[in-house]
Amino acid sequence: MAGFTGIVILLLWLLQVVFLGTIHRNVRISEVKDIARRLASYTEAPITLESKAQKLANSKSVCIIAYRFDKNRATEMFSCDAAENCVIHSLEKGELISMHDKAKANGGKLLCYYSYDNEKNKYELTSEVSDGQSIVYSFIVKDARGNDMLFIINAYVAPVASTVRTLNYLLIIISITMITLSVILTLILSSSITKPITKINASAKELANGNYNAAFEGGSYREAEELSETLTYAASELSRVEKLRSELIANTTHDLRTPLTMITGYAELMRDLEGENTPENAAIIADEAKRMTSLVNDMLEISKLENGVAKANIEQFNLTEAVTAEIEKYQEFCRKDGYILRFEASESVVVKTDRTKITRALLNLVNNALTYTGTDKTVIVRQERYFNGEKDVLRYSVIDSGEGIPEDKLPLIWDRYYKVDSPHKRSAQGSGLGLSIVNKLMTLIGGRCGVLSSNGNGSIFWIEIDV
Ligand code: ADP
Repeated sequence: MAGFTGIVILLLWLLQVVFLGTIHRNVRISEVKDIARRLASYTEAPITLESKAQKLANSKSVCIIAYRFDKNRATEMFSCDAAENCVIHSLEKGELISMHDKAKANGGKLLCYYSYDNEKNKYELTSEVSDGQSIVYSFIVKDARGNDMLFIINAYVAPVASTVRTLNYLLIIISITMITLSVILTLILSSSITKPITKINASAKELANGNYNAAFEGGSYREAEELSETLTYAASELSRVEKLRSELIANTTHDLRTPLTMITGYAELMRDLEGENTPENAAIIADEAKRMTSLVNDMLEISKLENGVAKANIEQFNLTEAVTAEIEKYQEFCRKDGYILRFEASESVVVKTDRTKITRALLNLVNNALTYTGTDKTVIVRQERYFNGEKDVLRYSVIDSGEGIPEDKLPLIWDRYYKVDSPHKRSAQGSGLGLSIVNKLMTLIGGRCGVLSSNGNGSIFWIEIDV
């Protein structure tokens, strides 16, 4: 701010004090030359020339004398006297006429300066240029008959010393005012810019220490306001993540504790009580351990998918054959428990996608369908290929005859750890991660998933990819 004020004052000083004389003189010279140009143009109408010249002389405070030369005889055409400290009206006629030759030798125009010599008490030609001088500009124009017309214009360049003194005085006042104002302005600006930043910084430190409710107050200007809004948003996101983290810990510890309690309980029972060391009890321990393994696997898989570690491994292969093979593996378990798992496909389709991820997603749905299907214990997997208006799409629908899902719960089932409260025995055993994994797998490979279901009418879970 001080630098800026300094530059403004320096500029004012240079223009108004140092160069004032030069600028004033140059302005006067260019005025005189402009008068000369106009006079030259007026010569085309000789009758009005004198009155126009008089007007010009009056308006610009200059003197003009014009001569016509006829066979080297000079006759005065007119003379206008409107300048202070006029030189040309105090010169001899011979001296004025001699300017004709000098101008002619100089290409038809001549600019010279006169200053008053106090000793000789008259104006003398000078080569030095300074204020308080008179400018005399002579120029020659041809009239209609080809005779020379000599115009001599005289303008006084007033001395600027007293003006400079006044301006100097004004400049001191301006400088003091500007410096005071700039100091005040700097103080106001710095306090209005730094104060909100300092406050925001203090709140940011609180946030770093774990206080997610730290209030970010913007302040008087837009950028600080935006910064505090961004930080408030960041704080709310951090608190959401923190909440999710604690929920995750709570959920996983809860889910792990149940099988662990069962395993410990049954193991102790078998160790301490004779007759309890039965294959049934051992099977319970094995089942619980398996459930825990699958839960841990699910948790690892979802964290990989969420962290972006999992990458799609795209290859070209026959998906219908791959699904047939996977379902074949399931058939054995199904037949053993009396379940019917049917795969319906009218054609064999080759696709480009991640084999493991898409079959994993489909089998998750098949698993759920087998868990929740109705008394007919039937699950149908149907492959359909259709054109959705833009692309060829391959869809796998997994259809069960179970209780279905209430409509209001449908959007929630894809969330992590969400389980629909149900008296169904096995639903309580799930991790609540299955559908969330399906959703993430399908997003990763650029596919989609969804569900059609209503209470009491079974469910159709589907996944699809572009062919
Ligand atoms: P879970 O391990 O509990 O099955 P999921 O994420 O796979 O977790 O499913 C979330 C919830 O969606 C389940 O708890 C269940 O209530 C409901 N659900 C999933 N599939 C079906 C289905 N085929 N029929 C009825 N409900 C289902």
